[in-house]
Amino acid sequence: MKLSDDIYQIKTDSTGACPYLSKDYSCTIQDIKPKLCRIWPVIPHDKYDKRGAIVIKCPLFPMLSQTDIDTLKKQGESVSCKVIQHLWNISEETKDKYKVFDYEEI
Ligand code: SF4
Repeated sequence: MKLSDDIYQIKTDSTGACPYLSKDYSCTIQDIKPKLCRIWPVIPHDKYDKRGAIVIKCPLFPMLSQTDIDTLKKQGESVSCKVIQHLWNISEETKDKYKVFDYEEI
């Protein structure tokens, strides 16, 4: 779904699942999946007018080394400010989805 000239959002189904998620939980658009998917579970932010990031402690988190997390954070630095602002301005419903996991500033 096109939100503006440079921001697109994947429309989820009624359960909140991404339409590109296969039954075996793999991504069916691996080669072109969005950057924010590529850097999961790291989420960039620009709180306090300074670029930063958090890491969500989802089930993937224990499998990542500190080097992996640092690499994902670095990759997140190229996500545009507009996309980050949109990401953090999305609905409380979406934010609530991630509240099941702990997170930490990285
Ligand atoms: S990685 Fe992104 S595009 Fe792929 S299935 Fe997950 S949410 Fe959808």
